[in-house]
Amino acid sequence: MEETETCRICSSSTKLKWPSSLEGELSSNSFAITDAHYGQTSAVYGCSTCGFMQCNDLSDVLSFYETLQDQAYEQGRKERYQQSRALIDYLQKFQKTGSLLDVGAGSGILVEAAAKAGYEATGIEPSRWLQEEAEKLNLSVKKGVLSDLPDEQRFEIITLIDVIEHVVDPLGLLTDIRQRLHNRGLCMVATPDCRSFFARLLGRRWWHYRVAHIGYFDPKTLTLACEKAGFEIIAQKRPGWFFTMDYLWVRVMQYLPKWIRFGPFNWMKRITLPINLRDSLLVVLRVKDS
Ligand SMILES: [Zn+2]
Repeated sequence: MEETETCRICSSSTKLKWPSSLEGELSSNSFAITDAHYGQTSAVYGCSTCGFMQCNDLSDVLSFYETLQDQAYEQGRKERYQQSRALIDYLQKFQKTGSLLDVGAGSGILVEAAAKAGYEATGIEPSRWLQEEAEKLNLSVKKGVLSDLPDEQRFEIITLIDVIEHVVDPLGLLTDIRQRLHNRGLCMVATPDCRSFFARLLGRRWWHYRVAHIGYFDPKTLTLACEKAGFEIIAQKRPGWFFTMDYLWVRVMQYLPKWIRFGPFNWMKRITLPINLRDSLLVVLRVKDS
């Protein structure tokens, strides 16, 4: 039998769960944040011990993000800002001020919300295009990944919102984040929950099964990864999101047969709905005393 990669969280063996369902060549478009090709992933492997699911065959995704452009993402800036503000409001319960780094900052939407709330906020983002969008708005977002920052740079808070499911080494990323935090520093992580009700109901057709997601967490594996990286979980919740009706419409239509799909209509762009499908996890972590 061919040797497969071990679990990226607990190092146990992994076994093929679903073969690849990719159609066509991968390009940076496949990694667009607003990609709606649900159910299309490279082969998914499951860990025999902790249950973590990962895509073993996608081992270098960073180059796709570096060249990523996503106009639709920017068009949804207003709703995404509401979302970021809700996250920052929640963070304020734990710490009201201080230096904050947003990892995978996109076009700086969370950085903007955090700065307005009084944090000394910066972000780091691998996509040149998204980073330039942030720059145009005078938001402090640097191009690159965490390891590109000066070695000595530390923060009081680091946020990782819908990013950890995109990286090849999630445990390594959490560990690097812990090392970048001051004593008793905080980290806030959000990611989809692959054992949530909708994930179970829809199976592989669940909206979070997509090319760009190469690691799938649930409450158990997320807790395990955070603890292994040297954090304690001090709070958790199921965050809600904000969507315009046209965005939701396109996505709901994906679940209907092709001949029945229609729309969206223009007026749908003007209606924003707060939605909580309880299929995401948000944890607030504190660096454990060593
Ligand atoms: Zn495992």
